[in-house]
Amino acid sequence: MTMYDITAPVAPVVPTRGRLRPLGLDEVRITGGFWGERQRVNGEATLSHIESRLESEGWLPNFDLAAAGTLPAGRRGREFSDSEVYKYLEGLAWEIGRTDAAADAELEQRFARVVARVAAAQEDDGYLNTMFGRPGQGERWSALEWGHELYCLGHLFQAAAARHRTRPSADDGLVGIARRAADLVCREFGPDGRDAICGHAEVEVGLAELGRALEEQRYIDQAALFVERHGRGALAEIEWGRQYFQDDVPVREAEALRGHAVRANYLAAAAVDVAVEGRDDQLVGALRRQWDRTLERRTYVTGGQGSHHQDESFGEDWELPPDRAYSETCAGIGSIMFSWRLLLATGDTRHADLIERTLFNVVATSPAPDGRSFYYANTLHQRTPGVPADPDGTSLRASSSLRAPWFEVSCCPPNVARMFASLDAYLATADDEGVQLHQYAPSRVRTALPDGTAIAFTVETSYPADGRILITHETDAAREWTLALRVPSWADGAMLRVSAANGVPHEQQVSPGTTEIRRPFRVGDTVELVLPVAPRATSPDPRVDAVRGCLVVERGPEVFALESVDLGGDVVDAVLSGDPLERDGRVWAPIARRGEEIAREVPLVPYHDWAERGPSTMRVWIPTS
Ligand SMILES: [Zn+2]
Repeated sequence: MTMYDITAPVAPVVPTRGRLRPLGLDEVRITGGFWGERQRVNGEATLSHIESRLESEGWLPNFDLAAAGTLPAGRRGREFSDSEVYKYLEGLAWEIGRTDAAADAELEQRFARVVARVAAAQEDDGYLNTMFGRPGQGERWSALEWGHELYCLGHLFQAAAARHRTRPSADDGLVGIARRAADLVCREFGPDGRDAICGHAEVEVGLAELGRALEEQRYIDQAALFVERHGRGALAEIEWGRQYFQDDVPVREAEALRGHAVRANYLAAAAVDVAVEGRDDQLVGALRRQWDRTLERRTYVTGGQGSHHQDESFGEDWELPPDRAYSETCAGIGSIMFSWRLLLATGDTRHADLIERTLFNVVATSPAPDGRSFYYANTLHQRTPGVPADPDGTSLRASSSLRAPWFEVSCCPPNVARMFASLDAYLATADDEGVQLHQYAPSRVRTALPDGTAIAFTVETSYPADGRILITHETDAAREWTLALRVPSWADGAMLRVSAANGVPHEQQVSPGTTEIRRPFRVGDTVELVLPVAPRATSPDPRVDAVRGCLVVERGPEVFALESVDLGGDVVDAVLSGDPLERDGRVWAPIARRGEEIAREVPLVPYHDWAERGPSTMRVWIPTS
């Protein structure tokens, strides 16, 4: 593993060492396409939708009440509502970093207004929470199982790290607020303080990143202390067992992710952070094994995780019922956080494969095209048509069977917002010898290797609609360097064509994994990767009883779904009776229904687009007999 010896990237995760260095928003920019459109909607609609709901639900005004000294009277929202304000600030910070200066003035004002309200609520010793610590409220740190005080601060720390990296010279106070709160956490929970953890992991990943951003080793050490304290019974037994908050088995002894799926992923992500910073290869190894087993046995074909509704948790191995898929949007984002850190630490492109699957089939599924309603849970089989949510109402978290504008527990919408606003920073990485492209989107890359070798290229593609990815170099390199391209695991038969501006094109077939091209790239040199994105039917692992005898149709990185609006009736008795095919830019499958002797071709929709034409029944896994 190497140390990064150049300017810190503007990115959500910046380890001081590792196999790969992330390229930040200043080095990679998405310029359009599938993700560019989602970023546009996020910037134009979702962020302001979130702010208006934080206001109308009272979650932002809670900070004003705290500053006025009138709490707990009038406080609204659950114990973790402060965290949604911080996630919103993080999303706004990335959006400011991503957009050009002309667009920033209004965003900067919005950012400053919210920060001022948060600042006014912070107490002199750094404590910051609207739910605890005042007369009439629970005492500070008195309800660590369910209180979410440290969880909320973890999101504050991530927001501050984002702000510090996107506007290092901005004197808006958020970094100072976070620093005072982090210092308090270190005093209260340090080696000589309370031997305790939070019931919802998040402070760990926040402290680790704030420590990296501000070069405060104490914060990273505190994160490591919290990670190591898990699995030793620090929290009280609850009806779902201590595995719910990963307090059943020490992190380095666990075999798979378990318990609450968001908590489990946030903790695993933090464990990678502290393992990397602490040069703890044994812990990295344990986390890689947990990732492998969780992917093999506890992850839906969409990349979704969590099959228990009651406690939002992972099921046992192979317990992946499609109609009971909980697959919370935040668990998908947590999985990306975990996978991305392992990718940086190890360079194993399988982590990028899962990130892609989860981005297209969980994260992209959550928001409606207008960016103002969301899925919280992401079922793989809808048995009864959903009921449209009240556009002005607030849904219970999982009860909405269609996308809803807001939830009583509304963790997912701001999580999607911060993910989209920082997505540019998940596309590519670098090492001493070149650049690795992990995700394919229209984009441009501008960076330099540690020895000063300048790299500049553009990526043109309409992926995933089309499998052709064209990379055009825009600078003359002073020396040979290596461009590494991920070939997704499903892409058997991918083709690579390399053309020098004044040379003979070279074409070859490449296998799933990574393909590398090393040369002194010149202006006009192109590299073209053609991924085979024809529709394919995929079998489940035979040990997943719930979908035995079914197939799922996929095309490229996208999972497809059969909807009743296309079938002309309930999908309950649909049978897939042949191979899927592509025609007129759509995917079709021969489907028969009970009582019908002849199958007919029915269009399928990308799973991320399901339920966009109103209530329907839907299934991803389709029986074959
Ligand atoms: Zn959520």
